[in-house]
This record gives sequence, structure tokens and C-alpha cells, in this order.
Amino acid sequence: MPSGGILYLVATPIGNLDDISARALRILQAVDFIAAEDTRHSRALLDRYGIARPLVALHEHNEDRVAAALLERIAGGESAALISDAGTPLINDPGYPLVSAARARGLTVSPIPGPCALIAALSASGLATDRFAFEGFPPRHSSARRRLLTDLKDDSRTLVFYESSHRILAFCEDIGAVLPNRREVVIARELTKLYETIVTTRAADAAALVRDTPHMEKGEFVVMIAGAEPVVADAGLSAEQERVLRLLLEECSVKTAAALTARITGARRETAYQAALVLKQGAAGEGG
Ligand code: SAM
Repeated sequence: MPSGGILYLVATPIGNLDDISARALRILQAVDFIAAEDTRHSRALLDRYGIARPLVALHEHNEDRVAAALLERIAGGESAALISDAGTPLINDPGYPLVSAARARGLTVSPIPGPCALIAALSASGLATDRFAFEGFPPRHSSARRRLLTDLKDDSRTLVFYESSHRILAFCEDIGAVLPNRREVVIARELTKLYETIVTTRAADAAALVRDTPHMEKGEFVVMIAGAEPVVADAGLSAEQERVLRLLLEECSVKTAAALTARITGARRETAYQAALVLKQGAAGEGG
């Protein structure tokens, strides 16, 4: 039973209504009121579990105004639960002004963890999970998306994006246009729902896969992109520069490969030379 004056952040299902924890249900039953992104949507979930606590709407268009009033109630001793339409509140959902102000006032904010599309998708992706960057929704316009992908191209962390059915194809086209052809891409669609799909493809093939697979453009998506290969021994080459250097080293001497890499990719000649020495030594070590 929660004591008064606590703001609970309660994760709710991202598709399968059974994915709600026993603790989440207990808290939702016990709080004085529930702040929900869309009260009609949340009513369906709450009705299913016989929860009839008062609902207050807190969405992106009113949250600055409503947050202040809710904080007064919590500061006065009431307990509240914040839920969003799906998943974990604040993860690309409303609640940031409320939570940051609650913490600034010294009120207790307590997370009740549960479903989150990005974590569910990442854990099942087969991509590296030790370091990742969550980028939320990519920009709406292709030019801005391509700029973002260009900025992230050499990031060695797994990249995670949310995307809607309206732009999944266009986003995959941009991935193909900007990232190296063979960079791994995993698309997770409709997680926890009837048509859950998790497919692994390559940057060059992602758009065709979405276009050519029946129903693949429908639903909700998490798109994940493998991180760039780490640069050689801190030598300062990008993944693409290193790739060119490696190819040239198969055919040329260290000196020639470094010089050509510098001319082709714009890398510093000395940097390319040092990296070539490291690669050559590595290859000799592996061979011996
Ligand atoms: N707060 C949510 C969470 O914890 O994941 C995310 C809310 S955000 C407004 C909605 C986006 O999350 C969708 O457009 C989609 O990118 C992703 N998403 C939500 N549910 C999903 C699901 N079942 N399968 C795949 N992606 C999902």
C-alpha cells in the first residue's frame, strides 16, 4: 500500500495486455488518481483489471499546465500513478515536466518497471547490447534523417530508433543511402502482438525487404542498426577509412595502401600509415 505523496511511473503493455506486472496492478488500484496520456485508451486497460481510480489527462499539449496542478496534489499528500498509452512513461511519451519538477521539489518518484519497446526489441535483436544509443523517432524529413544518419555513421554503439508505419519505408531508404551496404539492420515490428516480426537484414536491403514483404509496412516499429566497427587501435581512422585501408593492404605495400587511403578517403596520411602498420602486424600475428 503506497503512502501518500508519491508519484509512481507505471509501465503498461506495449501490445499484449497480459504484460502488466502484479505490482503495477496493485499500485494502480491503490493510488488516489492516475494521470494518463489518453484517458479513453487507458480506461480499456484499467477496466480489464477492474481498476476504477479517477483519471486525469496528461498529454504533450497540456502537460506543462497540468503538471503544476498535479504536483500540488502530490505535495499535499496524494499518491499518483503516471501511465502512457503503451510501455514506460517518459520514453518518447509525456511526463518529463512532471517528473523533473517533482524531483526538484523533493517529492518521491518511484518507477514500477515493465514493458518498453526499445528494450524488448534490443534484447531480441542479436545485435550488441553492451552499448547502445536510443535516438527516439528520426526526423520527419528525409534530408534531416540523412544528416542524422551521417552524423551517427561512425558511432560504434548499436543505434535504436522508433518508427511509425507512415515513414518506415522512407527511413529504410535513407539507411540504404547513407550507411555502408553491409551494415546489419534489425527491424522489430508489432512486438508482443499477433504479428510480431523480428527480421535481420543489411542497410542496402532494408527498404526492399519492407517494400516486398506483405504487411511489413504496417504496425509499430523499432529499427536497430549495428554500430560501426571500432577504429583500429585508436589510430583515428573511421570505420569506412579502415575498410578502404584493409582492402588496399590486401594488394599493396603499407606505404602505398596508406597513401591511397589518404587520397581516397581524406584521412591523414600519417594516421593511415600508422593504422596500416598496426593492421599489417595484426595480420602477420594471425598468420603465424
Ligand atoms: N513509451 C513507449 C515504450 O516504452 O516503448 C514508446 C512510446 S512511442 C510514442 C511509440 C513508439 O514505440 C511506436 O511508434 C514504435 O516505434 C514503438 N513501439 C511501441 N510499441 C511497439 C511494439 N509493440 N512493437 C514495436 N514497436 C513499438
